[in-house]
Amino acid sequence: MIKIAKFGGSSVADADHFRRIKGIVESDPARRFVVVSACGRRGKGDSKVTDLLYLVNAHINYRVSYDDLLDDIAGRYFDIADDLGLAYPIREEFAAFADAVRAGDLSTEALVSRGEYFTARLMAEYLGLPFLDAADVVAFHHDGTLALDRTRELVRERAPKGGFVLPGFYGATREGQIKLLDRGGGDISGAILATCLSADLYENWTDVSGFLSADPRVVDNPESIARITYSEMRELSYMGASVLHEEAIFPVRDAEIPIVIKNTNRPDDPGTIISDTAGTSDSEPIITGITGKRDFVAVHVVKNHMCDEVGILRKTLSVFERYRVSVEHIPSGIDSFAVVVQGKDVKDSLWSIAADIKTEVEPDEIKVAEGLALISTVGRNMVDRPGVSGSLFAALGQEGISIRMIAQGSDEINIIVGVRDEDFDRAIRAIYSAFSDGDHILELSELKREEDALRRLR
Ligand code: ASP
Repeated sequence: MIKIAKFGGSSVADADHFRRIKGIVESDPARRFVVVSACGRRGKGDSKVTDLLYLVNAHINYRVSYDDLLDDIAGRYFDIADDLGLAYPIREEFAAFADAVRAGDLSTEALVSRGEYFTARLMAEYLGLPFLDAADVVAFHHDGTLALDRTRELVRERAPKGGFVLPGFYGATREGQIKLLDRGGGDISGAILATCLSADLYENWTDVSGFLSADPRVVDNPESIARITYSEMRELSYMGASVLHEEAIFPVRDAEIPIVIKNTNRPDDPGTIISDTAGTSDSEPIITGITGKRDFVAVHVVKNHMCDEVGILRKTLSVFERYRVSVEHIPSGIDSFAVVVQGKDVKDSLWSIAADIKTEVEPDEIKVAEGLALISTVGRNMVDRPGVSGSLFAALGQEGISIRMIAQGSDEINIIVGVRDEDFDRAIRAIYSAFSDGDHILELSELKREEDALRRLR
């Protein structure tokens, strides 16, 4: 059994967190392959080491002194090493790094990558596992893209079989030039390693107990999601919810390796399992989660007998294409349709787009509705289940919220409604309460009971 345990920045923020991680790693013999981010925030108002390193880089570019910043960063590592009584010569190593920075010897990538490098060095000693440098196994092409096949080979050749600690977020080209993944890319490193080692499970340890079924700033105490499929997760994170770096999903999904999101501060919480083997029992929840985004714009195009005319949709969409605007939804009627796009994408071009549609499509009417919020209710269990959309629309109706748009993904795992921006929070709360009893999201068996009761009434 192989488990990859990836610990995010907040999980390695200080010596106390290192202790927690030791407890977690030692409690399960399958957890021998550890990936770490750079030390994150210790609390509100604190900084992430990676952000500080980027700041050092900016100071270099603007020729502003950065000595205090380097001291702050060094202090984070010295505190951890001293508190845990580690032998790694962090003071000498950090001084050599600071000298290289001052001498201008390091690229931005190399400089920033030291955040994870030092964290992993200290963690490796503390856990009693070998340190494996990501520069030696995570391979990049010169254009900065990942060379997955070569990475696989290098891991096979060089990675200690009994376990190790690997710094996330970076790798190197054949010539040893350091390259970075995206921000938050430690998640991707963990996923890459999981596929290269054909792991049984990819554990992503963070500071929350998995995905919540709604934003806790909107809904009081939303229930956490026990299990979610990859497609549901894509829907939820595309529309706003974020826990895991999206790119981290692809390599492990292809390899059919389940991911579990766990909380370093509450290791006994079950967390959220992301896997495609969906359960079928009646105790599955009716919906998985609700999320949404504000600031969409709908461009309505009305033309009588549009349904008999060929090419209108293509002409309209080609205008958006010309302005390089990605289209989110196209709800349509007999003589009209709307093109829904993100407000930020048409900030400067909206009126030019409308003018071009007017000349090229010659509609009877064109209307622009700004300030639209989209709310996506996601759930694999909604497929083929009558009554779900009914409850959703009824809940919005009872709240007096007018629905401006309705859409459903073709795989039927989500229902999207458009409401006015100002109704956003209220609408999410209404939908959440339609599917929950206050504490829990209702289970399928409960939906069935309701249906049976209704049937008896008829
Ligand atoms: N340290 C990097 C960042 O802050 C990568 C990571 O934390 O996953 O973006």
